[in-house]
Amino acid sequence: KKYVYMFYEGNKDMRELLGGKGANLAEMTNLGLPVPPGFTVTTEACTRYYEEGEKIADEIVEEIFEKLAELEKITGKKFGDPSNPLLVSVRSGARVSMPGMMDTILNLGINDEVVKGLAELTNNERFAYDSYRRFIQMFSDVVMGIEKNKFEKILDEVKEKYGAKYDTDLTAEHLKEVVVRYKELYKAEKGEDFPQDPKVQLLEAVKAVFRSWNNPRAIVYRRLNEIPHDWGTAVNVQMMAYGNMGNDSGTGVAFTRNPATGEKELYGEFLMNAQGEDVVAGIRTPQPISALKETMPEVYQQLADIAKKLETYYKDMQDMEFTIERGKLYMLQTRNGKRTAQAALKIAVDMVEEGLITKEEAMLKVDPKQLDTLLHPTFEPDALKAAKPIAKGLPASLGAATGKIYFTAEEAKAAVERGEKKVILVRTETSPEDIEGMVAAQGILTSRGGMTSHAAVVARGMGKCCVAGCGDITINEEEKYFTTPDGKVYREGDWISLDGSTGYVYAGELPTKEPELTGYFATFMQWADEIRRLKVRANADTPRDAAQARKFGAEGIGLCRTEHMFFEEDRIPAMREMIVARTEEQRRKALEKLLPMQRGDFESLFREMKGYPVTIRLLDPPLHEFLPKEDDAIRELAKEMGITFEELKAIVQSLHELNPMLGHRGCRLAVTYPEIAEMQTRAIIEAAINVKNEGIDVVPEIMVPLVGELKELKYIKDIIVKTAEKVMEEKGVKIEYKVGTMIEVPRAALTADEIAKEAEFFSFGTNDLTQMTFGFSRDDIGKFLNDYFEKKIFETDPFARLDEKGVGKLIKMAAELGRSTRPDIKLGICGEHGGDPSSIEFCHNVGLDYVSCSPFRVPIARLAAAQAQV
Ligand code: ADP
Ligand code: MG
Ligand code: MG
Repeated sequence: KKYVYMFYEGNKDMRELLGGKGANLAEMTNLGLPVPPGFTVTTEACTRYYEEGEKIADEIVEEIFEKLAELEKITGKKFGDPSNPLLVSVRSGARVSMPGMMDTILNLGINDEVVKGLAELTNNERFAYDSYRRFIQMFSDVVMGIEKNKFEKILDEVKEKYGAKYDTDLTAEHLKEVVVRYKELYKAEKGEDFPQDPKVQLLEAVKAVFRSWNNPRAIVYRRLNEIPHDWGTAVNVQMMAYGNMGNDSGTGVAFTRNPATGEKELYGEFLMNAQGEDVVAGIRTPQPISALKETMPEVYQQLADIAKKLETYYKDMQDMEFTIERGKLYMLQTRNGKRTAQAALKIAVDMVEEGLITKEEAMLKVDPKQLDTLLHPTFEPDALKAAKPIAKGLPASLGAATGKIYFTAEEAKAAVERGEKKVILVRTETSPEDIEGMVAAQGILTSRGGMTSHAAVVARGMGKCCVAGCGDITINEEEKYFTTPDGKVYREGDWISLDGSTGYVYAGELPTKEPELTGYFATFMQWADEIRRLKVRANADTPRDAAQARKFGAEGIGLCRTEHMFFEEDRIPAMREMIVARTEEQRRKALEKLLPMQRGDFESLFREMKGYPVTIRLLDPPLHEFLPKEDDAIRELAKEMGITFEELKAIVQSLHELNPMLGHRGCRLAVTYPEIAEMQTRAIIEAAINVKNEGIDVVPEIMVPLVGELKELKYIKDIIVKTAEKVMEEKGVKIEYKVGTMIEVPRAALTADEIAKEAEFFSFGTNDLTQMTFGFSRDDIGKFLNDYFEKKIFETDPFARLDEKGVGKLIKMAAELGRSTRPDIKLGICGEHGGDPSSIEFCHNVGLDYVSCSPFRVPIARLAAAQAQV
């Protein structure tokens, strides 16, 4: 088996084996672009490394050195030879890009002798020692785990000692001093000298990259992005291109289109006399790529040509890394660029209009989850105009965020866990360790770094508002405050607002406004609607939700939970009266009071949905949820209701359940109290008749929850049908309606052929179905889910992403059984999963008719359904 490939042996379709970076380096090599030569150690070598107890097999070591010899031949340089040294980078690269999550080491192969040779050969001592100090720091950090900031501190001290503002102000002599002190630090930390043997350096570096696959931040990133843990990373070993050789050298990143707006223009940043991560690390403030046009017009033109070529070739916006070594351009990476949702839509629509891609291909250019950012509010324009910014940074990721400020990722996360809804993370700059805090925050503000800094890239990926490089503010992370130029101080817990589209920062909480769903969004979503087969409905309980859902393009309501209406202040008294009733007569009297309220609710829902189907679920939760639990509250309520405390307490106790999730709820309530189902049916049918008289035809779908046995359904259906007939007779109007059931108890899925004899539709209630199939409660899973992630038992939360193997099997089976009995049975899903793109694909594949999800997820589902079709 082959474990190492020269770049010229690979291609872009080998990303599973070579990782994304390796596959694209190979492809660019084959396209004849100026890529420094190198080779890739495969992801299989990484998995084998882990299988064999974190050791690289001898045969793989041998293969690595064979390819290294070939690299020496190609480059005409020799690894470890001071007279003509080959230095390489050792770069991680997984199948999908995980920016900044894993480690890279530059200038490997340098040591005390090589550095001298390099200085002589290039006649550039400063460059040689600059490369050496960088290598020592990276190697020590990545391979030996010595904290980076210990090195940073030394560098800062030397800079201060010689009055150097930037690292570029340091001379060769200064850098020599840095190297000496770095090596001392290394020895003090490790008890041995810095490794001088380049071969040892190389193998250790390869192992470290393998190990970095399992560093905590990479694990978190994979979980957030649903990347399997067993993929492993490839390692790329590549000849160095030196961006740190002086002012005719540099390094940068470029996008073929603007990743924030989607504008068609070469976009990016670069730094002269710099290497690797300098651009994104915010060490100096980079220049915009357009400046390169002035200083190095030929290089600029070459880069622009390559950009165009790559974009046309990959049919997607590219994010490229390049380095200029004494006026010569090298390409170091290309990948499909991350972009804001706005940019993604514009690019997708533009590329169709340019004839570069088809509408179907365009569907795949936008991540459904990203659409979310477009659906959320922006600042109220008037309030925005009136507000005076306190600072301005770079508009790194669009959106509007307002919240209380926190200065560390941990504190931001903790604040959200405490229940604070809106939090803004303020950092000098972010690093991959901050990822969880960034997830928790509404927005991110940094004082350093450019448009391609870590904060900016990650925030764009998350669709989160970010203002980066806000040099106007001075942050004191230790004492948890920042100051603005006017001397004002903002402390932990103070409110600020960020505008990610302008980069302005405001004090206080600015009001926000609903988004406009026009322009590129409308065009793109219209294409999605043309392409998809799966219908999309919304879960909506109130007319307001229904209106929102329509605005987002829902084609009906897949789940209206009637109980939500009972919890409202003016209704709960009647509900409670019903619960404490001791006779059917008393119960009916209380239900009488609820009837007009329910009817009114349904009328407004029907009106709002203008003839689209509306599925209404009969009362589902256990009754004790409507009563208080604490003695004080019970006493108070008893007084209000005119009964004794003891009486009410006894009722509360009698309703107490050990396992409410498996208790007296769902259709079981209607079995005990048929009059509840009767009242709800009456409210539904009366409402439908009333709006029919207004000229809106609705076909209400009455849904019975928690059915596990045909006879349960039959019993309740009889009540529904009888009531409906009666109402229609009274009113003298006939309407169409359907009776169906949720499939959320495993037994219902198992006997779906029988259930379908009575059910005209199935709606898969995947929250309960997941709960009951796994046998763990959704409300308690939080206590142990993290252990399951850590021990790699679960890769995703089964309540967020459908468990296709188990729960999915039940759905597939029930769908088939249901159709075998009733070929035209309507099938849908109304659990949380109805809004999850990968679960939606599954629903498409098993042939459901529709998915139903919360209103804000409707556009996401529309796109996911189109993607499933493509
Ligand atoms: P990441 O995946 O975190 O971007 P990379 O492997 O791309 O890590 O490398 C980190 C930085 O080092 C990038 O800026 C890259 O361009 C630079 N780099 C990597 N290899 C070389 C090389 N052979 N010559 C010059 N710069 C390099
Ligand atoms: Mg990179
Ligand atoms: Mg349920």
